[in-house]
Amino acid sequence: MKTDTGRGPSWSDLRDDLVVANRILVDQHVLDAFGHVSVRTAPGEDAFLLSRNLAPGLVTAADLVEYDLDGDSEDDRAPYLERFIHAEIYRRRPDVMAVVHSHSATVVPFSVVQTPLRAVLHMAGFLAERPTPVFEIRDSAGGATDLLVTSSKLGQALAETLGDGTVALMRGHGSVAVAGSLRAAVYRAVYTEVNARAQAEALALGTPIYLTPEEGATADRTIGGQVERAWGIWCDRVRATLAGSGGHGE
Ligand code: MN
Repeated sequence: MKTDTGRGPSWSDLRDDLVVANRILVDQHVLDAFGHVSVRTAPGEDAFLLSRNLAPGLVTAADLVEYDLDGDSEDDRAPYLERFIHAEIYRRRPDVMAVVHSHSATVVPFSVVQTPLRAVLHMAGFLAERPTPVFEIRDSAGGATDLLVTSSKLGQALAETLGDGTVALMRGHGSVAVAGSLRAAVYRAVYTEVNARAQAEALALGTPIYLTPEEGATADRTIGGQVERAWGIWCDRVRATLAGSGGHGE
């Protein structure tokens, strides 16, 4: 296993943040026993940190593994089957620094109907640029898969569906959210679920008015400065679960 030697204090901070991100996403009901969050090791590097195969709520710094963009590592502990989601998005998108893959409950229904997930909330302006695309695994691998993205080829197809966007759904499975920082990716994953709840409720009441792409872009710039505020309170909520876990300063 690689050590922290030579990586400096920011490396330790990055690892701590990734542990906290795992705990926050569980606390916010985005991840459960499944799903995962990763961070690119540094801008321009073709490597990322991701937990070994473990429920996100149990992840500590000792569980983090560095993978290359083929999904390989020097660590012999069992990896997540779907690490190719992360690898191929990092390969296609040099701007992406973090990826969340979740099965969050209210997002999945939008992956199986004709009504696209769209921004109904100013907090989810990152969803307003376009109707959120849906990855159809049958187009790449036929009608008898387990729906999991378990190869580079499937990861590439998903990354193509995501394109230059922020979020893509995966039919009958879940979603991915990406951003230029770990904290922003966590924010987007949480608010993708919040927006899905609001949109589903709005659809039950009538015909929603969606944010225009221009409103979304403007709102996203404003909210971009507020991500730290969300991170702060979400972090505080999970602090107790980190005590004694080795998640900080390991
Ligand atoms: Mn999955």
